[in-house]
Amino acid sequence: MNIRVELTKTPKPKPQDESKLGFGDIFTDHMFIMNYTEGKGWYDARIVPYAPLSLDPAAMILHYGQEVFEGMKAYRTKEGHIQLFRPEQNFKRLNVSNERLCIPAIDENVALEGLKELIKVDQDWVPHQVGTSLYIRPFIIATDPHLGVRASHEYLFIIICSPVGAYYKEGLNPVKIYVETNYVRAVKGGTGFAKTGGNYANGLKAQDEAKKQQYSQVLWLDGIERKYVEEVGAMNIFFKIDGKIITPSLLGSILPGITRMSSIELLKSWGYEVEERRIPIQEVADAYKAGKLEEVFGTGTAAVISPVGHLKWGDLVMDINNNEIGPVSQRLYDEMTGIQWGILPDTHNWIVRVL
Ligand SMILES: *Cc1c(COP(=O)(O)O)cnc(C)c1O
Repeated sequence: MNIRVELTKTPKPKPQDESKLGFGDIFTDHMFIMNYTEGKGWYDARIVPYAPLSLDPAAMILHYGQEVFEGMKAYRTKEGHIQLFRPEQNFKRLNVSNERLCIPAIDENVALEGLKELIKVDQDWVPHQVGTSLYIRPFIIATDPHLGVRASHEYLFIIICSPVGAYYKEGLNPVKIYVETNYVRAVKGGTGFAKTGGNYANGLKAQDEAKKQQYSQVLWLDGIERKYVEEVGAMNIFFKIDGKIITPSLLGSILPGITRMSSIELLKSWGYEVEERRIPIQEVADAYKAGKLEEVFGTGTAAVISPVGHLKWGDLVMDINNNEIGPVSQRLYDEMTGIQWGILPDTHNWIVRVL
């Protein structure tokens, strides 16, 4: 594939103090872009200086939200390599989201080659300090200037990158979440399994109310019976009950996380019994009351593993593992981040080296 590269003439200063890096506030010097036009397909893969887009005010993304995105990271190893964690899974999932949103499929190999080229061009932006990484945001938007409701005939596929700080600056502190009983995120038949903007716009209200009550996130229940556990904001959820690991099965309303999939593979390889099934929130509460709720943790690219220390459902407040990270959560975190930063051997062939 031929990727045209146009380098910036005005490189931006890189962050001086990497310990002050936040999440998603600053962007690298370049971005990858590719266009789609009906009848012509995807074309003109290029790397160009990072800059605002020019969009027609009638562009369909602005009106009907036809878009999909991904989230992944590049890691710098001690030896100075730059590597990705299962990136082919992200582009595969992007195409699953595309299919649901009536967006034409991308060539997953072209996307991965484009991403690698972009990282090479912006390699000095991958931060060095322990725990930092380069967050990668591929996304596709409908750009056809048209106000009738239908799928767009034109799209842009873009990849932007942002150096981000260590998620945990002082150890893995458990989060406080509550079970959302008023709002719902997704229903089977809807778009819950797709990474598409509307799902997150829909979740803002519940997230806002949680923040007001000093909770960091909500745990969503199924949209029909409000009975079964689904997931957290941008994380899948796992429970350890009486020695067994349980996580909600992927029935169409939950985002199929790559950290979720990797956690299940690791847990099974360590000999744990992992059940993927529907979990009534009542079962979690009963396990808690019986003293059998041993660990609860979220999985996602940003935090990798996020232990839940405090889970509230109605009047019931569950304090899990004395508000400390549990041994399984810690082991998963150590193993996964060890592989990502090249500290541990890549036993599952998950790493794709860029440089
Ligand atoms: C991205 C995301 C996840 C986690 O997926 P990973 O591939 O593990 O990062 C989980 N739930 C939702 C709603 C998400 O958007």
